[in-house]
Amino acid sequence: MSRRILLRGGSVLDVDSGAARPADVVLEGDRIVDVGIGLDGDEAIDCAGGLVLPGLIDCHTHVCITQTRRDPFGLPRSVRPLSAVPVLRTLLRLGVTTVRDAWGADAGVRMAVEKGWIDGPQILLSLRQVGTTGAIGDLWAPRTGPLDFFDDPSLPDPIFDGPDGARAVVRRMVRAGADWIKATATGSMAIGTGVHDIELTADEMTALVDEAQRRGGRKVMVHAHGARAAELAARSGAGSIEHGTFLDETAVRAMAESGTWYVPTLSVTQSDPEHAPEGAAEAHRKSMRLAIDAGVRIAMGTDNPVRPHTEVLWELRHLADAGLGDAGALRAATIEAARLLGLADDRGEIAVGKRADLLVLAGDAVDCASIEERLQRVFHNGVEVAR
Ligand SMILES: [Zn+2]
Repeated sequence: MSRRILLRGGSVLDVDSGAARPADVVLEGDRIVDVGIGLDGDEAIDCAGGLVLPGLIDCHTHVCITQTRRDPFGLPRSVRPLSAVPVLRTLLRLGVTTVRDAWGADAGVRMAVEKGWIDGPQILLSLRQVGTTGAIGDLWAPRTGPLDFFDDPSLPDPIFDGPDGARAVVRRMVRAGADWIKATATGSMAIGTGVHDIELTADEMTALVDEAQRRGGRKVMVHAHGARAAELAARSGAGSIEHGTFLDETAVRAMAESGTWYVPTLSVTQSDPEHAPEGAAEAHRKSMRLAIDAGVRIAMGTDNPVRPHTEVLWELRHLADAGLGDAGALRAATIEAARLLGLADDRGEIAVGKRADLLVLAGDAVDCASIEERLQRVFHNGVEVAR
């Protein structure tokens, strides 16, 4: 029988209601085994006056591309996976215990965490961002034709055309270990072109969704800035819309009616709004208001390293400010994110039977802006993370 760790005297946040109430929490192995008043354990940790939160979930990050973005062709291959080591350690220390990698990490990185070779949050992989000819990720130059700076079978060719091509690219990604299929439906804000384009047909999008579903019920996360691409992806059965910078009422209605989640990645436009493309910061906040009013489900994602991974908690503040409030932002980063990822039976709240992923903060205020300065302890799979 493993030791029972007692977190004593704190308040526990009920993420669904947003209320914090006094309760002890007992951890045993990788599980929360008791929540209540006056509990005991083999080892007690004083949490008096503090707040206990579930581990945070970043549904859109890139743990392997910090260095690759800087110099894609000039680095040895080992740099890409190894660059994840400090990133994963940083995220875990900041309380992020689960991530969905939105391209760049391969199955070896996930394996290294699972085996305990490196410390990090649990990783769900998408491998590459699939897209049609000319989409983001289709590197091409007039002198050489197609270029692939990964040149790595662990990160399969993401470019496809037509519904048959869509099915084939899903099969390639699943073969190489993808948990999610990441697709791109518009151009890039960073590159600044095609953000209102619709780079997929409905037939292509539907084929991606159907083929992913056939493979163990996998889902498709769709990069879409413009409203029409987001609407098409939602109507075709996308699991989530990523970014959604320029949504409109028609797009959010399609998302609400289709049960498509919104992962706004507000860090892209809100952390440094003066350097965001003209009008994007304001449009992004408007998209959030429309989505909230339409009842679209929202989960937290950063799109880092658009900002340094050390700024992961800023996204909570942006979500709160853009209309969710502090409790709503924490819900988006915990139980709602777990629901999007299909992990809500296992994590996302402080409840008996759930994974012992949690944060202990000094002070019991439900306030997203001060989490980092108040963060005292992080537990992942029932083990305290070294500070
Ligand atoms: Zn991204």
